[in-house]
Amino acid sequence: MDYRKRPLLCVIAFVILLAACKQDPSRAEFALGTVCSVTLFNEGNDRIYKEIFSRFREIDNLMSVNIAASEINRVNAAAGTSPVQVHGDIFTVIDRALYFAELSGGAFDPTVGPLVSLWGISGDNPRVPSPAEIDEIMPLVNWRDVEIDRVTRSVFLKRRGMALDLGAIAKGFAADEAAAIIRDSKIKRAIIDIGGNILVLGEKKNKSPWTIGIQNPNESRGVYIGILRITEPTAKPRSGEGYRPVQTVVTSGVYERHFEADGIVYHHLLSPSDGYPARNSLLSVTIIAACSMDADALSTAAFVMGYEKGRALIESLEGTEAIFVFEDKSIRKTEGVDFVLSDEKYRLVRD
Ligand code: ADP
Ligand code: MG
Repeated sequence: MDYRKRPLLCVIAFVILLAACKQDPSRAEFALGTVCSVTLFNEGNDRIYKEIFSRFREIDNLMSVNIAASEINRVNAAAGTSPVQVHGDIFTVIDRALYFAELSGGAFDPTVGPLVSLWGISGDNPRVPSPAEIDEIMPLVNWRDVEIDRVTRSVFLKRRGMALDLGAIAKGFAADEAAAIIRDSKIKRAIIDIGGNILVLGEKKNKSPWTIGIQNPNESRGVYIGILRITEPTAKPRSGEGYRPVQTVVTSGVYERHFEADGIVYHHLLSPSDGYPARNSLLSVTIIAACSMDADALSTAAFVMGYEKGRALIESLEGTEAIFVFEDKSIRKTEGVDFVLSDEKYRLVRD
């Protein structure tokens, strides 16, 4: 090694590094119980990144049951006692959660809090509760016992011991909020990834479709069974200057959080009808739509409903598509999905 060349090599390495940074300007932070990563293309802007990540933290502080002083915990602590006036953001999410609870016939239910605690799903020591324990808390799981007042923006859980859990919808809301911040800026395209809740904004430079890997539910994160191509927005684009379409791809699957006891795998998508992890032949449900909050709720709802009912619900909604991955490695999808299978152990079935 000629030491005189060292400074020159350093400069070259620095330039290469700079070029690499320019191409891949992603930032990632831990929030909302997961890794949130944002990629602002071309015009990666420090101020916008800061604004987005502080918005994520703000949403977390309102909606996380794992943050002691969160608003959601305030509402839960007042269950059976009094209504609690809440911040507009959390009110919006609770209101929408109740809408999807009704739409899904209760398969999606934001009052699963006591069940989530009983199973210890979000903690380090999950366990299988006894049938008696489940029976005891089931009366507390019922979205109809949530009273909201749109005028005072207050939320009342009617029974003592009830608890809201927004884990199945809050990440989607956060992705939409990040998209709103980006839309108010000059940034033309971006990718937001909140623990696998993906949102793409704008069009790629060469107008080629966005491609998004669909997680293999049997493998660790980042191993894909195929590629989803987003050729055109499923929502009708509003015309007008500066319009950038948004598409979101959200998956609920058994692989996210689970534990094994006596040879049985228990996952975190709970059926409010019997208090156990939803048992059907599904491994994952992916929703493709324009609103991430809705897609997040729908991926959980469709999973818990199971294939037949879940598919019927998705097909009843305009601009909403789905991919269902089954335990027997078959995959079914709705009409509008452009999906290219890459893992030959799986098969795409039409029916
Ligand atoms: P993830 O958070 O892993 O991306 P989901 O969006 O499907 O997956 O949310 C799952 C979380 O939602 C669970 O960890 C739990 O907190 C909550 N949850 C579980 N079952 C239900 C249900 N039936 N309805 C609403 N929320 C649920
Ligand atoms: Mg969800």
